[in-house]
Amino acid sequence: MRALIVGRFQPFHNGHMEVIKKILEEHSSVIIGIGSAQYSHTLRDPFTAGERHLMISMSLEEKGIVNFYLVPIEDVNSNPLWVAHVEALTPRFDSVYTNNPLVRRLFLEKKYDVRSVELMNRTDWSGTSIRKKMLDGKRWEDDVPEQVVRVIREIDGVQRLRDLAMQD
Ligand code: NAD
Repeated sequence: MRALIVGRFQPFHNGHMEVIKKILEEHSSVIIGIGSAQYSHTLRDPFTAGERHLMISMSLEEKGIVNFYLVPIEDVNSNPLWVAHVEALTPRFDSVYTNNPLVRRLFLEKKYDVRSVELMNRTDWSGTSIRKKMLDGKRWEDDVPEQVVRVIREIDGVQRLRDLAMQD
């Protein structure tokens, strides 16, 4: 049994990691869709699909997790067509895990088994909060897996975010 989770992972954080671990308690493998794959270098979506791919694969492999497939998924400008677009890009899956109301609705309408995992430590484990901490010069490193810290340092990600926030 294979499950799907789609996220923007901007960046991949400890909440995402916990969800993937829970999915793998119930499924033999997980497809991780890197959503909004065409976006990068904005305050909401600072990291490229390739950078997010690296963050996720390095973090999971470090934990000894190898039963995952990473698939970049660009957005499409029609919500009713999005599920078919995801299906065309990924291996077949039996269940979908999400807390995102739109994602939930779209897969339910296509008769998928849609499940949710409770949100954990939402104050700190959220992309928005982590990007804000980076901008404010606060400590964000405890909210993401060690390998994500490594990738963000390598690409000078915090400075990228600060540059993006500057006005000319
Ligand atoms: P996200 O990275 O915010 O979250 C990914 C998943 O992890 C979500 O289900 C979320 O609830 C869960 N999660 C996040 N923090 C958690 C925590 N602390 N504890 C437990 N779970 C946690 O990504 P998202 O915004 O849900 O991504 C949806 C993607 O689907 C986006 O890229 C969006 O553009 C795409 N999408 C595209 C279309 C279209 O192209 N028409 C339509 C629908 C969705």
